[in-house]
Amino acid sequence: MNVVAPDLHRERAEAVPMRIAVVRRIVQETPDTATYWMNLRRRADRLAYSFAPGQFNMVYVFGAGEVPISISSDPARPTCLAHTVRATGRVTNLFPSLSLGDEIGVRGPFGRPWPMREAAGGDLVIVAGGLGFAPVRPALYAAMRNRAHYRRVIIMVGARGPQHMLFARRLGTWTHTLRARGVEPHLTVDIADDAWPYGHGVVTTLFDPAHLDPRMTTAFVCGPEIMMRFAVHELLERGMGTHRIYVSMERNMQCAARMCGHCQLGPAFVCADGPVFRYDEVAELLEEEEL
Ligand SMILES: Cc1cc2nc3c(=O)[nH]c(=O)nc-3n(C[C@H](O)[C@H](O)[C@H](O)COP(=O)(O)OP(=O)(O)OC[C@H]3O[C@@H](n4cnc5c(N)ncnc54)[C@H](O)[C@@H]3O)c2cc1C
Repeated sequence: MNVVAPDLHRERAEAVPMRIAVVRRIVQETPDTATYWMNLRRRADRLAYSFAPGQFNMVYVFGAGEVPISISSDPARPTCLAHTVRATGRVTNLFPSLSLGDEIGVRGPFGRPWPMREAAGGDLVIVAGGLGFAPVRPALYAAMRNRAHYRRVIIMVGARGPQHMLFARRLGTWTHTLRARGVEPHLTVDIADDAWPYGHGVVTTLFDPAHLDPRMTTAFVCGPEIMMRFAVHELLERGMGTHRIYVSMERNMQCAARMCGHCQLGPAFVCADGPVFRYDEVAELLEEEEL
């Protein structure tokens, strides 16, 4: 596997201090997932902290442990930091018991971000499935802030059902706002009743109505690996080059310092070389993996 050297955003994890963040707002997104909005407690930390779309923090719940969580907020407002967390295990199951004013530890940001600059000049399509919307939301914010840098900006979101769709409690207003800001939203869910006004079916059903131009498009894809695999196949079938497709590989990770091997993907480490990879760097692994 040929892993392209990550850019300047890669930092040595052990050199990054833990900062204390205070939970300011909690938004329940789906039955098992909430977004925790927080500020860094110290002014010096707020001044020093910035992140790029697609990066993650190691988030420490005191007394329980540390987990990698993508940053889901606007990179232009780094003092207002959000993490969208699904309760799945030992550490993340403690998030629902956090209250406003509680403190957590934050180390980061880490990881190779979405290549916003490489995508500029052409069309940008963001394809998100389920919780995979969290790591791409900062890219959507960045594209909207720099709308003139792209021809079309298209967001495709799939979820299991309407109640599993992140960041979209008032969907009508949200899609209207996106359109007003020059973004084309396409939404679908696997299962819904007839009252659901958007698409029915898996996320790949959104590709035909979007009429992508394969010569001019860069794709950022994030979601469960099986969804990324099918989405990438659709893009390739439409003639897109593998070098214009990026995926985020969120493999289980512990140290964030390229040491423990938990997140190793062949010769690459998700913590240091990813989580964002160009598809041709990880194609073999994404195709081979037993799901
Ligand atoms: C770069 C990166 C970004 C991430 N961003 C987010 C995010 O924005 N929001 C979010 O909710 N989660 C995110 N995750 C996943 C999150 O880190 C894991 O869910 C968390 O570490 C689980 O820890 P735990 O102690 O709660 O569960 P554990 O008790 O350690 O594990 C519970 C179960 O989940 C499995 N598991 C643990 N980590 C992962 C993983 N990465 N992928 C699939 N299965 C896993 C375990 O094998 C086990 O079966 C991200 C992971 C990575 C590597």
